[in-house]
Amino acid sequence: MKLAILSRAPRCYSSQRLRTAALDRGHDVKVLNTLRFSIDLSGDQPDLQFRGKQLSHYDAVLPRIGNSITYFGTAVVRQFEQMDVYTPNTANGIANSRDKLRATQILSRHNIGMPATTFVQDRGDVIPAIERVGGAPVVIKLLEGTQGIGVILAPDIKVAEAIIETLQSTKQNVLIQSFVKESKGRDIRALVVGDRVVAAMRRTAKGDEFRSNVHRGGSVERVDLDPEYERVAVRAAQIMGLKVAGVDMLEGVDGPLVMEVNSSPGLEGIEAATKLDVAGAIIDHIDNQVAFPQIDVRER
Ligand code: ADP
Repeated sequence: MKLAILSRAPRCYSSQRLRTAALDRGHDVKVLNTLRFSIDLSGDQPDLQFRGKQLSHYDAVLPRIGNSITYFGTAVVRQFEQMDVYTPNTANGIANSRDKLRATQILSRHNIGMPATTFVQDRGDVIPAIERVGGAPVVIKLLEGTQGIGVILAPDIKVAEAIIETLQSTKQNVLIQSFVKESKGRDIRALVVGDRVVAAMRRTAKGDEFRSNVHRGGSVERVDLDPEYERVAVRAAQIMGLKVAGVDMLEGVDGPLVMEVNSSPGLEGIEAATKLDVAGAIIDHIDNQVAFPQIDVRER
């Protein structure tokens, strides 16, 4: 097949691994800078220009869209969809997963365990909201935070209220979420490809930090997932409309609590921790879908 990997970082570990995995399997693959596409809407057929020239035919596209270019990046992916080019992650799936509130709203009606979460605007609603999710300590999250930035643990209600007011005064939207203390600075990252978990790791926060992000000094280890965690991870990815996803779950007393579904999961940490060929699994999945297209029943 002819595959385009959309990435602004052709030399980064994930882009390189995906490209090599595709080449090793005999595919024709190009890593294309997402920001160099033009979407022309004047013609009678949807098409795309790349670096000012008409894009040649591709069978599939693998989007790796960073947070900073969600709007343009999803527009490019949507254009590929209009051109009937297979993509494991749809533009809607990427946009849905990018916004923590939108993702939580979509997942919440599908019986997926999640930490109790509320979203309020008015000052007068902040304290009742904190109380509804179980009181302090409470977690406050910026809607579009990533790598643990914008995730704060407020020790008491007064501090929480002050943080929320400060953030809201700078026009930042925040989620208020119950603190899952039994997870003890740990979480699970399950890498979903198609309808299965191909690799999973546990991340453990450094010292008394509660955020287990590797960017915050967290360490990683391979983990054999309990079937319930696998089921929930696959289901969460399916509901979001993503065939390639990194599903982050806390280990709650009653089982998995989904925090986030990431549409461009990094491969370096998980391949190092598990010694598994995640890039190869992603390419094989795409190849299979191009060869044997499935009727798509994903939620849009
Ligand atoms: P980001 O998208 O920035 O990684 P997350 O929502 O995944 O933000 O939170 C970062 C980390 O903080 C998680 O990996 C987890 O270790 C910790 N964390 C997040 N929410 C909670 C919570 N409700 N209870 C306990 N720990 C949490």
